[in-house]
Amino acid sequence: MTASSTFQDALVRVRALAELANIDLEIIEGLLHPKELIMVSLPVRMDDGSQKYFSGYRCRYNSILGPTKGGVRFHPNVNEDEVKALALWMTIKCAVIGLPFGGAKGGITVNPKELSPMELERLSRVYIRVLADFIGPHRDIPAPDVYTNSRIMGWMMAEYDSIKRTHAPDVITGKPIELGGSLGRDDATGRGAYLCALELIRKMERALTDISVAVQGFGNGGYHVARLLQQAGCKIVAISDSQGGIYAKKGFDVESLWQEKQRSKHIKGVYCNGSICEMVEHESISNDELLSLEVDILIPAALEGVITKDNAHGIQAKAIIEIANGPILSEADNILHSKGIKVVPDVLANAGGVTVSYFEWVQNRSGQTWTLEDVQQKLKEKMTAAFEAVWDLAENEKRTLREAAYIKALRKISAAVEAHGTHNYFNG
Ligand code: NAD
Repeated sequence: MTASSTFQDALVRVRALAELANIDLEIIEGLLHPKELIMVSLPVRMDDGSQKYFSGYRCRYNSILGPTKGGVRFHPNVNEDEVKALALWMTIKCAVIGLPFGGAKGGITVNPKELSPMELERLSRVYIRVLADFIGPHRDIPAPDVYTNSRIMGWMMAEYDSIKRTHAPDVITGKPIELGGSLGRDDATGRGAYLCALELIRKMERALTDISVAVQGFGNGGYHVARLLQQAGCKIVAISDSQGGIYAKKGFDVESLWQEKQRSKHIKGVYCNGSICEMVEHESISNDELLSLEVDILIPAALEGVITKDNAHGIQAKAIIEIANGPILSEADNILHSKGIKVVPDVLANAGGVTVSYFEWVQNRSGQTWTLEDVQQKLKEKMTAAFEAVWDLAENEKRTLREAAYIKALRKISAAVEAHGTHNYFNG
């Protein structure tokens, strides 16, 4: 099967790995189709008085393990195909970590940078107005994703509450702390990936201070993983954003770079005008050049589909930790494997965000508020246990880490389906 789209590419992996895991054909078939998919038209009154229509989506992919969970993305490229792929990956991810959730995803096709704050609020609220009966604390629980944040989650919760005449903080996660959000949610995705990196480096029997790292994408995920790895002693030698990247053999001070980026909005421009320029010598590089640097760990933390069969041969990193969802196309998996490159897959490496979202949901439902130390400790336990389980399965069954993660998840989903009975049971 050749992949003609992101969703098709996601299905290639599920089908191949489900067969490897000896999953019943009836169960595989069930995983090839989303449970529910809705596309909605969202009318928004713009500041100039005109009415504009935006396309919105929500996909609940599979709910066998619990209510569905997944982010809402605001981006010009959001479309049905991408939403279905992301919802499928969420299904696998929640099962890998062992969260009592199925997978979902949503989004709006919009460039949020072109909207005023009030237009953005109206758009966020109308999305919930239209989808209020589709989501719910026991049904489907949205969260932030690319270009959505805690403020937007707060508007969405308030809209849901006013429609349902209730107070339901557990309908959405990633909220502001003041509105029932969890401490530790802001850096959870980067921290989860960092915990995976620590485990991997330990398995590689390398010292943290020997490790060089390149990070593509300097947003929520990329910044926090770079910051934490640097604090642990690693050298962050390359970082990029949508404008391009920078490279310095001696490494960067991540926090200073972040502060400069906040001030002048992109790395390259800042870098050559600002104070960091004087701190360390650097070279400008393109995003493609960053991917092929000779480093110990490469972390794609921006977009899907950046490593393909065309550039996989040129990857020189010893290991890849996927923070972005789907940065490596299935066609590149074997090439990377044959080069001996270890890949910690997205469904494990970027699961810190949904894990702390789960903690937020638990706190909201039980009326508790946990300390930052509690959240970070629980995250560490969950991520480390999931990493070890995937690693052991890979070793025992001679699989890559991606294959092992999918096999673990698919077996869990399959066991839940079989508990209801499949054709084997009903046909005696
Ligand atoms: P973000 O919007 O905070 O940051 C994205 C970064 O990528 C920005 O620095 C942007 O400049 C950069 N970027 C955009 N286009 C680029 C390009 N062509 N080349 C290089 N860099 C580019 O987003 P985020 O929340 O950090 O998410 C990044 C990825 O991680 C996405 O794939 C997302 O689905 C995934 N992810 C995020 C979370 C989370 O909790 N934030 C959780 C799981 C997965």
